[in-house]
Amino acid sequence: MANSHHKLIILGGGPAGLTAGLYAARARMDHLLVEKGAEGGQVLLTDWIDNYPGFPDGISGFDLAEKMLAQARRFELNSMFGNVTSLDLSEPVKRLQFEDGDTLSCDSLIICSGAHPRPLGVPGEVELTGKGVSYCATCDAPFYRNMHVAVVGGGNTAVQEASHLTKFADKVTLIHRRDELRATKIVQEKAFANSKIDFIWDTTVTEIKGTEGVERIQLLNRNGETSELKVDGIFVLIGVLPNNEMLPLDILKADAGGFIPTDLETRTAVPGVMAAGDIRSKEVRQVVNAAGEGATAVLAAEQYLANLS
Ligand SMILES: Cc1cc2nc3c(=O)[nH]c(=O)nc-3n(C[C@H](O)[C@H](O)[C@H](O)COP(=O)(O)OP(=O)(O)OC[C@H]3O[C@@H](n4cnc5c(N)ncnc54)[C@H](O)[C@@H]3O)c2cc1C
Repeated sequence: MANSHHKLIILGGGPAGLTAGLYAARARMDHLLVEKGAEGGQVLLTDWIDNYPGFPDGISGFDLAEKMLAQARRFELNSMFGNVTSLDLSEPVKRLQFEDGDTLSCDSLIICSGAHPRPLGVPGEVELTGKGVSYCATCDAPFYRNMHVAVVGGGNTAVQEASHLTKFADKVTLIHRRDELRATKIVQEKAFANSKIDFIWDTTVTEIKGTEGVERIQLLNRNGETSELKVDGIFVLIGVLPNNEMLPLDILKADAGGFIPTDLETRTAVPGVMAAGDIRSKEVRQVVNAAGEGATAVLAAEQYLANLS
């Protein structure tokens, strides 16, 4: 496979990449999907997915990833493992450079490299992820019915999600490192008016504690005082970071956060290069829209390739 040329390369094997792979394989395009880890992407980080249609009882992240892969393989998905370290998009033929020195080239490329939540970086966080530490309230809020949860953050996402969580949790404590929120005023007003939300200001979380699941979090305020708060879960909503270290951000005209803007058909600023899923510049990052964009991107690639020949 190394040093080969393809009509279409799909970079990343999360929901966006696997759906792109399904569509490309089913359309019998000359394609190759490249993934550096396990196919499934962030879906593998989540215990249970309740909001992907077609699974009325929900499905584990692992099973959903396996099913997506199996479906693409049924149509002879062509895939390989490899860590792409740089991309040259300056010529009509696009070149991918791999960690081990190999290269690949293609006429069209779909970037599906995804994103990852910005972590707090405190003890207990990694160990308790999926056991009470969550990075997605839209995904996990219903698991906290009648419980007490903490939300960390002060931007729009954190404050909106704190309000959303009150539909399920009895109590939500929003912890922010400053003395005022960054969220827009209307979002703030709604949260302040919600009797289920408490605020702890000028405070950071320094440790997450628990054995089977989250039990307590340790807090440090600006005066240097420490305290503990009993919670059943903690939502870390301090931003999402794009997996973009291998992308030429200038030529792709990345936004201030490093995400890739596209038109509605997923076309980027570079002809023949599409971006789908969490790497796209957008508001909502969910499996269902990543999958939809993967499909759209293949149709855009087909159109681009048809105009080449
Ligand atoms: C904890 C958690 C829970 C979530 N729960 C839900 C939920 O319940 N419902 C929901 O709809 N959404 C949920 N999400 C969001 C959802 O997982 C993402 O929106 C979705 O996975 C995005 O798909 P993607 O294909 O764009 O990117 P990703 O899933 O991030 O996949 C990107 C892939 O690209 C690969 N890659 C990156 N860089 C390279 C490179 N240089 N070379 C080769 N490969 C590379 C990665 O290894 C990865 O496999 C959750 C997210 C998290 C973190």
